[in-house]
Amino acid sequence: MNKREFIKYSGLAVGALAAGTTSLYASSTAQKVKKHGRKGSPLKLSFIPYDLKLRHVFTIASNSRTTTPVILTMIECDGIRGYGEASLPPYLVENQKSVSDFLSKVDLSQFNDPFQTEDILDYVEKVAPGNHAAKASVDIALNDLRGKMMGQPLYRIFGLNPEKTPNTSFTIGIDTPEVVKQKTQEADIYKVLKVKLGKGTDREMIEAVRSVTDKPLFVDVNQGWTDRDKALEMIYWLKEKGILFIEQPMPKERKDDIAWLTQKSPLPVVADEALQGIEDLLPLKGVYSGINIKLMKCGGISNALKMIRIARAMDMKILVGCMTETSCAVSAAAQLSPLVDWADLDGNLLIGNDVYDGLKVVDGKIVLPDRPGIGIVEKAKLF
Ligand code: MG
Repeated sequence: MNKREFIKYSGLAVGALAAGTTSLYASSTAQKVKKHGRKGSPLKLSFIPYDLKLRHVFTIASNSRTTTPVILTMIECDGIRGYGEASLPPYLVENQKSVSDFLSKVDLSQFNDPFQTEDILDYVEKVAPGNHAAKASVDIALNDLRGKMMGQPLYRIFGLNPEKTPNTSFTIGIDTPEVVKQKTQEADIYKVLKVKLGKGTDREMIEAVRSVTDKPLFVDVNQGWTDRDKALEMIYWLKEKGILFIEQPMPKERKDDIAWLTQKSPLPVVADEALQGIEDLLPLKGVYSGINIKLMKCGGISNALKMIRIARAMDMKILVGCMTETSCAVSAAAQLSPLVDWADLDGNLLIGNDVYDGLKVVDGKIVLPDRPGIGIVEKAKLF
């Protein structure tokens, strides 16, 4: 291996060069790296609030909105920058103030090796309980940073085949039949759609979609059904309409009713609101047959990867989803998509003021950028 190849394939070498180390081959340096890990500049965490503007009013069973607040993060080491994001839709407990308060307490300057991910994330976890989106914004930036320092996309670091990315769904919110038809037609490039139900117009919604397309559909009820017998009847009707699974059919507290529904349902029943952090996963056994993993709920890429492994051991189906987010958090989630059954990674497509360029959707399929880390570049200078 010549020197150029060595640098290309060694993240340690890239970091060492950036830190000003003069000889990559000096045995003393090699021993130092081996013995103590990489020494770089102290990690520096920055963050800024940003408001995402939605292209259309977005209505689900519980609310309607036109904007989504986020916090964009950046971790810098040796002049290399990793980017992250906390998305904060209003129905969740976190907001820009809580995330700013949390991140203000996070002192990453005590670390100078972004490859010691476990130590850093253990520290961040212990700063305060909860704060999953805030923690995700640190985890994503840290993973992006280490990918960039290694010069490799995260999917390669995780050993995943980028050809195995699934199609992503595009979400159709609850609206009048005319608007639903129009949105369905506009979503022409997508091979699968996710239809929001749960406000008493379920059949009209599905009939409106079916009047213009026969492509497969996901259904998300957002806890909107209250009667389990009617829910089961509706699921049988939906199966005949070409639906692939039902997401969060009833309120998450109704575990016995959901377990009954899952047992009798001809379609997979997927947990979303019922699954926040990794600690919620094991109790879902026997209640749901699938899970919707979102980085903002579980605290980032590292926890999402752990949850995917555990859910597979529990013989559950896996959907990777997102909030309304920029291409930063969506591209981060997409790095794991070769491992899952279904993807709902359209959050960046719902907004009109994305500040990053990242994953692409080509003929409905997720295409991971051939760039290091999470694969994004800034469209505008933010930090
Ligand atoms: Mg959902």
